[in-house]
Order: sequence, then structure tokens, then C-alpha cells
Amino acid sequence: MKTRKLAIACPQCGSMEVFYSCTPNCCFNHVCSDCGTTFEPATTAKGRVVTGVIPPDPLPESTDPTAECAKCNSTAVYLMEDGGLVCGKCGVLLELELTEIAPG
Ligand SMILES: [Zn+2]
Ligand SMILES: [Zn+2]
Repeated sequence: MKTRKLAIACPQCGSMEVFYSCTPNCCFNHVCSDCGTTFEPATTAKGRVVTGVIPPDPLPESTDPTAECAKCNSTAVYLMEDGGLVCGKCGVLLELELTEIAPG
């Protein structure tokens, strides 16, 4: 199954100009370059597991939106063609939730 890199819309203004401003061993703070809102994405596992997940090409860069798999803690979380989230490591389907939203 082909995937694309994760894209997260700003919860405040809907902009897709969202950047990951920290590192996975610290926190998942993201910032919107349009309105300055910060937030952290979190995932919950939906339980279903798929196989044959192909990582996006090119792979996401360090400032691209990043989320952590709720099951295996991998940050290889990608978007499927139907818009759902999948973990590229363990293959579990994920639900995205935005937390710690602080309007800019
Ligand atoms: Zn925004
Ligand atoms: Zn996983």
C-alpha cells in the first residue's frame, strides 16, 4: 500500500503550513507558520493492522508534521490514499487527535 507523508492542518486557521518544531525524543510541538498556533498531535490505535505499507518517497523531512504511533511509538506515521493514518512500522491504523492547542 502506497502512503504519503503526514499532513496536518492547523486546528485554528486550517493552513497546511504546519511545521514540526521539536524532536521526537523531546515533544511533538508543531507550529503553524500562518497564525502561530502551536499544538501537539497524538494518535490512538484503531486496532486494525494492515501489511505492506510502503513509506512515502521522498521520506518526510525533520520539519514535516510528525506523529507518534500509539502502539509501537514509531514516528513513521503516514497518510494512506483514503486520508487515514497508518504506522509504517507496525502497520496499525491510527486516529489523529490534536492536543495542547495554543492559538498564536
Ligand atoms: Zn494557523
Ligand atoms: Zn506502530
